[in-house]
Amino acid sequence: MATPDEFGTRKARRLNSLDAARADLYGGPNVGLPPKHLMASFSGDHNIPVPEMTKSPTDDEVSSEEESPQVATPLSTPPMITSDDFALAFDIDGVLIRGGQPIPEAIDALKYINGENPYGVTVPYIFLTNGGGKTEKERCLDLSRQLELEISPGQFICGHTPMREMAQRYGTVLVVGGEGEKCRIVAEGYGFKNVVTPGDIIKTRHDTTPFRKLTEEEYENSRNLDLDSVRIEAIFVFADSRDWAGDQQIILDCLMSKKGHLGTRSETFDEGPPIYFSHNDVVWSTSHEHSRIGMGALRASLEALYKAVTGKDLTTVAFGKPQMGTFQFATRLLQQWRSDSHGIDKPPSTVYFVGDTPESDIRGTNEFNEKSDIDWFSILVKTGVYQDGTIPRFPAKKTCNTVFDAVKFAVEREHQKTLKTLPNGEADVEVKN
Ligand SMILES: [Mg+2]
Repeated sequence: MATPDEFGTRKARRLNSLDAARADLYGGPNVGLPPKHLMASFSGDHNIPVPEMTKSPTDDEVSSEEESPQVATPLSTPPMITSDDFALAFDIDGVLIRGGQPIPEAIDALKYINGENPYGVTVPYIFLTNGGGKTEKERCLDLSRQLELEISPGQFICGHTPMREMAQRYGTVLVVGGEGEKCRIVAEGYGFKNVVTPGDIIKTRHDTTPFRKLTEEEYENSRNLDLDSVRIEAIFVFADSRDWAGDQQIILDCLMSKKGHLGTRSETFDEGPPIYFSHNDVVWSTSHEHSRIGMGALRASLEALYKAVTGKDLTTVAFGKPQMGTFQFATRLLQQWRSDSHGIDKPPSTVYFVGDTPESDIRGTNEFNEKSDIDWFSILVKTGVYQDGTIPRFPAKKTCNTVFDAVKFAVEREHQKTLKTLPNGEADVEVKN
């Protein structure tokens, strides 16, 4: 029987994020969905051991009488026990979602770490995706619907989230990628003061892109510019380009300009604005049976194009996984999330990161682990970019078929640690998947 001492657990009511103090990393309201999905009652089929605790008044607030018409016994609504010793972090595409639909095992995996496991333990977790193109709040609402549980922006990082910290550095920026006006809205939400899009430039000077015409809606939403006075101080590719040819032409014009002044041409091709990408994934997992090219491919293409046109090398910067800065950001977010939602003020001993892309998820986790005081443990799943039978350039510490197998492995490994902890504090663990 599990006791509150196992897993470094503590009895903690998981706060609805609407109640929790807002993570300092973000502004704006949290996502509000009924907590009942998150706090779903256990069914008797799972043979949940009953923790030796008395029922607290707060348990009434999270039980659902409609879904549990019988008398609420401790077996059907056991007190929540939250691990403060380990945590989980998930990539999204190819792990939980594929082609806009949840991967079948994803919903069970999240139920499992929200208490529907043999130990009745809940495990704090965050999401760390390179994808983007919407506000964090909007993306969390989508994800909450897809995965049938409440997900808060306080536990979510996407590729462009760290760009927020650059809003004060640059005045006028070119923002590229995504659908319609969405990335402009994201950038303005981050605090960027003057956001120019490729649509603005095409609207103002239609022959900028000979083969791209704005739709009526794009024309309506785009803004007229004073091309003689606009100076692009930096270029940010927030999300995947919907029109590579047009966007590359406009980016190239900016990069080849004199200090970002639109319409000018540098003689030396070394005085253009800096360019930042929200991530560098060359391929990603969609509903198609083969991986599709992504932002990293655009980056490679632009670098090659710049070299071909100017003869010079282009320096570009990418955020997202596997960059160490993104994992540092994730560490801060996880700490804030554990504190706000679970009342845990100490760092975890281990963070299990579950991803499908060896080049970003696994590489980043392994390299960050070498620098971090926390043990970042990489788990590769076979539901996305990684193809079973191939040898990844960046091997994970553990490979699992699905995210459900991954979370079961993590919880079981932690359980085994508590049973097999050696006197010197090291764990002698061998867990079969
Ligand atoms: Mg992925």
